[in-house]
Amino acid sequence: MKVIETKDITYEYPDGTKALETVNFIAEKGEIVALLGPNGAGKSTLFLHFNGIIRPTWGTVVIDGKTVNYNKKELMKIRQKVGIVFQNPDDQLFAPTVIEDVAFGPMNMGLSKDEVEQRVKEALYRVDMDGFEKKPPHHLSGGEKKRVAIAGILAMKPKIMVLDEPTSGLDPKGASQILKLLYQLNNEGMTIVISTHDVDLVPIYASKVYIINQGKIIKHGTPSEVFEDVKTIRDANLRLPRIAHLMEILEKKDKLPFNKPYPLTIGSARKRILEEFKEIK
Ligand code: ADP
Repeated sequence: MKVIETKDITYEYPDGTKALETVNFIAEKGEIVALLGPNGAGKSTLFLHFNGIIRPTWGTVVIDGKTVNYNKKELMKIRQKVGIVFQNPDDQLFAPTVIEDVAFGPMNMGLSKDEVEQRVKEALYRVDMDGFEKKPPHHLSGGEKKRVAIAGILAMKPKIMVLDEPTSGLDPKGASQILKLLYQLNNEGMTIVISTHDVDLVPIYASKVYIINQGKIIKHGTPSEVFEDVKTIRDANLRLPRIAHLMEILEKKDKLPFNKPYPLTIGSARKRILEEFKEIK
């Protein structure tokens, strides 16, 4: 079942910049979809269409089977279904304390005080930020801010969570904490869409990848399908995952028998190498 669908959307900013051109993007229920593209490709602009923050210049956006209607009441409904976590948590966090920030969304949904309290507690626990309730968000580290921003969205219990570069600027532990959480949420049924330019992460978590460059989707498919097309990846100023690049060098330069499709993760590379060298072992 399609939960997000854009049909031929084109978007021009008021200054005339064409940021998206005839973009067709689909996220099915229960998927983790990665939107991969270099800086300035149009990732953030596309995401802002997913909950009606911006309206396409041409084309339509369909959320949960319904074409988005840009009246206030419908937009409220969409924003409860699709939660967007911005790239920079400072664009999202504004309340004087963590607890007030996370409570803002559910309070606006008109839920009872008890329900709001319960949701805030649960959301902070999920992101491992319980104990930080009274802290001002601007006193938190980058990773902590990001987790509070995610808690604020989780507290609204959206069906779909859209995260713009969720691991950018985080140290490896912070990044892996966030990915683990997204994995768990996905296992519980949440559809997740992530934008990134980190090609190494994509094959680890994504079931489907879209490559965007200069406002156009130039390729989509499973990570193996997409990374098999090395030329398109490089033309878009992206690169192969490091592991696949190593296998490519071993094949082309050292004439070792690692042909395409190259393994994309450490786990699959290990399997392939062990298979190839089992006689030596
Ligand atoms: P990405 O998220 O992939 O880095 P963006 O969606 O932020 O890319 O930007 C896509 C294009 O739109 C870029 O050329 C960028 O300069 C332009 N752009 C982004 N925001 C605005 C804006 N508010 N006004 C005009 N142009 C913008």
